[in-house]
Amino acid sequence: MSGVNEIRSTFLDYFRDAGHAVVPSSSLVPKNDPTLMFTNAGMVQFKNVFTGVEKRPYVKATSSQKCVRAGGKHNDLDNVGYTARHHTFFEMLGNFSFGDYFKADAIELAWTLITKEFGLSPEKLLVTVYADDEEAAGLWRKIAGFSDEKIIRIGTSDNFWQMGDTGPCGPCSEIFIDQGPTLAGGPPGSPDEDGDRFLEFWNLVFMQYEQVEPGVRNSLPRPSIDTGMGLERMAAILQGVHSNYDTDLFRALIDAVAHAVSRAPEPSTRASYRVIADHLRSTSFLIADGVLPSNEGRGYVLRRIMRRAMRHLELLGARDPVMYRLVPTLVREMGQAFPELARSEALISETLRLEEGRFRKTLERGLAILDTETRDLAAGQNLSGETAFTLYDTYGFPLDLTQDALKARGIGVDTKAFDAAMLRQKQAARAAWQGSGEAATETVWFGIKERTGATEFLGYDTEAAEAVVG
Ligand code: ATP
Ligand code: MG
Ligand code: MG
Ligand code: MG
Repeated sequence: MSGVNEIRSTFLDYFRDAGHAVVPSSSLVPKNDPTLMFTNAGMVQFKNVFTGVEKRPYVKATSSQKCVRAGGKHNDLDNVGYTARHHTFFEMLGNFSFGDYFKADAIELAWTLITKEFGLSPEKLLVTVYADDEEAAGLWRKIAGFSDEKIIRIGTSDNFWQMGDTGPCGPCSEIFIDQGPTLAGGPPGSPDEDGDRFLEFWNLVFMQYEQVEPGVRNSLPRPSIDTGMGLERMAAILQGVHSNYDTDLFRALIDAVAHAVSRAPEPSTRASYRVIADHLRSTSFLIADGVLPSNEGRGYVLRRIMRRAMRHLELLGARDPVMYRLVPTLVREMGQAFPELARSEALISETLRLEEGRFRKTLERGLAILDTETRDLAAGQNLSGETAFTLYDTYGFPLDLTQDALKARGIGVDTKAFDAAMLRQKQAARAAWQGSGEAATETVWFGIKERTGATEFLGYDTEAAEAVVG
């Protein structure tokens, strides 16, 4: 019962039997939502149902939602490969009540699923609740029979869920599993909570408010429920492994990488295999949902993810484009659950092949420059912003790729100087055009440049890339 495909169907069947409509995943590109870069949770497609703006023929739903967290409020890009539990792309299993049931039923349904259907042992489980949510604490005591030390009260934003800077939100209660003292880390809320021992796998959000703008929060028409369980994390738990990357699906992807570079993972290269397997999923699913690499907006985030994977392939010794050769394995593993992936296979492969070819032309020279420029730097020091900008501008290295490349050595980048260099170049380019006295032409020309992304220099600036709310 513990392959990802079986876990997904067990979850959906369970909630369907409890009267929920099974709703397909929506696109990774949120429809009609300029505030959000990518779909980052199961509730995104139901945002207007929670607020009462939109009516659906059901009041309870369940889904397995494709999510990408690589920008905005929820950004896990820098965690990938370095934590056992984060991906840029993952599936969020969820159940939703639109003004139908609330806390008591949500907790009861969750508890029965994880202890009866999934068979997790109650002794290993513990929960968090929002600091002043006495009602939730009382329900956990009653339904799960938990003593007070298994109901941890948290007063920070960790237990108040928000999709982005605006949108439906509310206090939440999260379910954790204690994976045992062989792993490092303390319980949620403790100073060493970031270890792997206590793993968060399900978040139950008690949707009560809508954040309209900063500082303005309205009550929703009716209290609702929104939950999110990471499918890959549940797979790790049920398969008895301590990392998502050791589950069936990721083992298949990592084997494909090893085959493509003719080299098996070793402790020192393990993070690279994980990054590549993860980024293969996010790039392929983004392309399947219509995003293509470009120099702005969503397309630029996609390019950053792709190029980061391609640099890790280079680290593993690849000298020709290889990422596209991994696509058939991904389609074999996930194409049945996501037909759009199978339908787009040719487009995904071709996009990856072209991008890797393009990037490889400058990759080696750029890496050589990076090497030379950081030869004399020690951990805690920074690469100059000007060099990082040259790598970006001339060699197509997005800033975060440079940062990722230096991370293992503890070297940072002077991002202030990088931003300043970017700004100077934009101003110089515009001034040159203004100087020519063709202001009207300039507007058109820059417009076209920005749309087609003919060069890197008008690319997305780093501040804006992170500031896009999501
Ligand atoms: P974490 O604290 O581990 O970063 P989170 O609190 O940010 O997780 P939620 O926003 O509560 O996550 O999302 C609901 C569930 O989705 C989580 O409990 C987890 O199981 C899963 N999840 C969240 N982020 C990721 C990710 N980057 N990769 C894989 N699964 C994730
Ligand atoms: Mg998180
Ligand atoms: Mg969390
Ligand atoms: Mg959470």
